[in-house]
Amino acid sequence: MGGDTESLKSQVRKVFEGGGYVFATKAANIARDAGFTNPARLASNENPFGTSDAAINAAKEALCSGNRYPDETADSLVRALAEYHGDCGLKLNVVTGVGMDGVIENVIRTFIGAGDKVVVSTPTFSFYNLAVTAQGGVVQNVRRREDFTVNVPEFVEACRGAKIAFLCSPNNPTGTITPAEDVEEILKGLLKENCMLFLDNAYVDFCDTDYRRLMKDYGNLIIGRTMSKAFGLAGMRVGYAFVPDWYLPYYKRAQTPFALNNISIAAAVGAIGDREFVKRYVNHVKEWRDAFEAGLKKYRMYPAGANFVMIDVAPQKSDDVVVKLAKKGVIVRSCASFPTLGDTFIRVSIGDSWENEMFLKAINEI
Ligand SMILES: *Cc1c(COP(=O)(O)O)cnc(C)c1O
Repeated sequence: MGGDTESLKSQVRKVFEGGGYVFATKAANIARDAGFTNPARLASNENPFGTSDAAINAAKEALCSGNRYPDETADSLVRALAEYHGDCGLKLNVVTGVGMDGVIENVIRTFIGAGDKVVVSTPTFSFYNLAVTAQGGVVQNVRRREDFTVNVPEFVEACRGAKIAFLCSPNNPTGTITPAEDVEEILKGLLKENCMLFLDNAYVDFCDTDYRRLMKDYGNLIIGRTMSKAFGLAGMRVGYAFVPDWYLPYYKRAQTPFALNNISIAAAVGAIGDREFVKRYVNHVKEWRDAFEAGLKKYRMYPAGANFVMIDVAPQKSDDVVVKLAKKGVIVRSCASFPTLGDTFIRVSIGDSWENEMFLKAINEI
């Protein structure tokens, strides 16, 4: 290859010299090597029932218009989402993105430049940190309490001088639900600091807390949503958010043109039309969360409002338990890579019934 690669490398921004997202592929390889061709896949919080036929049919049809650029406003999707959320009685502003990850990235792009401060309630989803760092921003982590609830005054205090704060509820990976009253108190405190709150509601469909009403009174609130979890469209990469009126034009100016493609838009609109599919899955998750609680013989499970549960496997180490489970054909996620969480927690998605049974049997043998 021509050129001095070392010199060329030195042109890349320092923030990309290390780090990056941690993908959980190791356990899958162990299960495969142990002879499991169809292991229980409980590491990524995916919908185990596949994709709704309504979404598949709509996506197939959209393939025929592959020569055309997508509608740049994703209007059909925005309208379908606005109608879907009509039950909350508010007229919500909906923006879309390539997964909620794409939404998060774009929101950060609108607020954060070199040296700007961002607060993140941890332990939590790692992508906020990656996206802020990529933009040159500086993250201040604020730890949750021992039981993983949020210490509201401490969180608000930490937001002094920050431009935006990230709070995930139900939280990944702990499953913790932050009560809407606590979120409202945070919003009030942050308004005084001129600070935005990004409330990540990726798993909100699996709990009974509804934060949407807060959009009415708080101009500093953005609520992130995704179609990857309850709607079973992880591979289609469709995320969205509710944003305040004043913010809408900024989001749109910062967004990559034609971010969502024809097929994703069509699949998402189709999926929104199949409410029975979502309902069936959500009910399944709620039933199995209770069954996990009842079926775990040795280890403590934390109260969860998501389609996964977090389990403390102490005195064992999470990485060891992940390997032992993989050898029994069950793939779960070690939480050791979540900063500040320690090394004894695993996160287990609620899968199909056979997968859940396989997990309970395996974990009780370890
Ligand atoms: C899965 C997830 C997302 C986003 O997922 P996308 O597939 O990018 O829509 C966002 N936040 C949390 C906490 C998640 O677990």
